[in-house]
Amino acid sequence: MPTPRVTFRPVLTGLAFLACALGACTAVRNQPALDLERVAWQHGAADCAGQTDPAIQVVRYDAQTWILRQNKCLNYEAPFLFLFVGEQRALLLDTGATADSVAFPLYRTVRQLLQSGETAHGHPLELVVAHTHNHSDHRAADAQFRGQPHVRLVGLEADQVQQFFGLPAWPLQSAVFELGHRALEIIPIPGHQAASIAVYDPATRLLFTGDTVYPGRLYVQDWPAFQASIQRLVTFAAHHKVTYVVGNHIEMSRTPGLDYPTGTTFQPDEHALPLHVAELRALNRDLQALGKQPARRVKDAFIIEPK
Ligand SMILES: [Zn+2]
Ligand SMILES: [Zn+2]
Repeated sequence: MPTPRVTFRPVLTGLAFLACALGACTAVRNQPALDLERVAWQHGAADCAGQTDPAIQVVRYDAQTWILRQNKCLNYEAPFLFLFVGEQRALLLDTGATADSVAFPLYRTVRQLLQSGETAHGHPLELVVAHTHNHSDHRAADAQFRGQPHVRLVGLEADQVQQFFGLPAWPLQSAVFELGHRALEIIPIPGHQAASIAVYDPATRLLFTGDTVYPGRLYVQDWPAFQASIQRLVTFAAHHKVTYVVGNHIEMSRTPGLDYPTGTTFQPDEHALPLHVAELRALNRDLQALGKQPARRVKDAFIIEPK
């Protein structure tokens, strides 16, 4: 599989960031975004003790969008995290599954990524830290951001998310979140968890769906709410251009219907991260066919898993 055009090993080397600050990063500014289906993600190791991959894999999707993945050897959940940069502020979506700032230096990594934007605009960017939902594998490093300069941390409960983004008609209406010449759309999607949101980015045409839709086991906590949320996402995708649906984990292999066992730290043949709108529509049809009766269903690219 070809390597992505731009992959930084962040944690690391001040040198990589120095190069970034000095303009190496801006070389990609006018290039099209990389093909998400072809990114070679770190997928753990057969022997984690001997693994030398960084704690956080950083992939620059385009000039102002970054996708990070936590090392599977650090936590088997290996969640993806997303950083969107505008002219006034940046949004970090999720803080991963590990709190420790030495083992998992997320704050430092994000600060370094923001430096090039701050240099370009001549002022510090406000960093808003929000979450796709309130599960521990997506908020563990929140404390690294608490009290840091120019950082605002969004609360974890559904009412706090509603209040922050201005979603009085939760979950029926979405809201625009302005980053400065870049607006994101925040879409409530309770069901996997009560505070779940999706984020649509018109700039990249990516629809970020957290643990609600991804190539893996879709754990459903609230069945009717989940059905309604998937229906709303399908309706949304019918009225917006969506290139890919991007979730927070990979648990499926490339063999249709075959998932890796929970807790595995090595996924050498894992499914691509993005799903297509056609798969979102298929999920909706499956849920409608099941009606009010929650049931497990194994599909090619995901597994419906009522809790
Ligand atoms: Zn998760
Ligand atoms: Zn979750």
